[in-house]
Amino acid sequence: MLETVGLTTTYGSIAALRDVSLSVGEGEVVGLIGPNGAGKTTLLGSIAGLLQPVSGSVVFEGSDVTGNAPDKMLKAGLALVPEHRRIFTDLTVVENLKVGGITVGASERAGLLEEMADLFPVLRDKWETSAGFLSGGEAQQLAIARALMSKPRLLMMDEPSLGLAPVLVDLVFELIESLRNQGRTLLVVEQNATRMLEVSDRAYVLRSGELVAEGTGAELLERSDLFDTFVGGTS
Ligand code: ATP
Repeated sequence: MLETVGLTTTYGSIAALRDVSLSVGEGEVVGLIGPNGAGKTTLLGSIAGLLQPVSGSVVFEGSDVTGNAPDKMLKAGLALVPEHRRIFTDLTVVENLKVGGITVGASERAGLLEEMADLFPVLRDKWETSAGFLSGGEAQQLAIARALMSKPRLLMMDEPSLGLAPVLVDLVFELIESLRNQGRTLLVVEQNATRMLEVSDRAYVLRSGELVAEGTGAELLERSDLFDTFVGGTS
């Protein structure tokens, strides 16, 4: 469904991403793990059209979409839940969801709102609450629900468990599992490597802008040598 080929992205003269080639197949949950500053956010941004790669390509559903604007990518079926959630705090929960569903028709949007209320009961209870009053865990669920409102073919999430209390971290990983059980396709950046590998079909390890390992979640969990690289390490 998604393929990056030799993707390189720079900030000025610094190459934050070097020659990264990865793939995500339909119905797969793919993890992207690595230390702080490894280039994980840069990679998602380069796929979603927020950043322009200097070389390489992004192929989505068989089409070359390299450098396409984020709204075009969203319409093509690729949604990103950004780091730090970035929900609209001055809008209500349901208004945030409607904004997320702007690319789908009004009749379909009503059905999607129902679906989100079922998937996220916490949000149903706070439908008319201003999103600025949500807790961190609720805001994260809203950010994910808002992205799902666009009916993405591929959902990318950047550090969904970041900054959450342990019980809410559990909830995020349960949610990833339930999205996986629904057959959705996910590419998830996580610093919580062990937890992510447990719910990943496959995963990639990024370090200093380069992929240093890939394998099934189970295979990478066995690689104790890699854990020194990405757990609490530096890029
Ligand atoms: P983290 O988990 O800390 O978010 P990351 O793996 O997502 O890390 P990136 O945020 O992609 O890493 O950063 C990769 C590298 O690019 C880092 O060295 C970072 O300092 C640098 N970088 C990121 N954003 C910018 C920017 N806007 N301008 C210059 N350098 C940047």
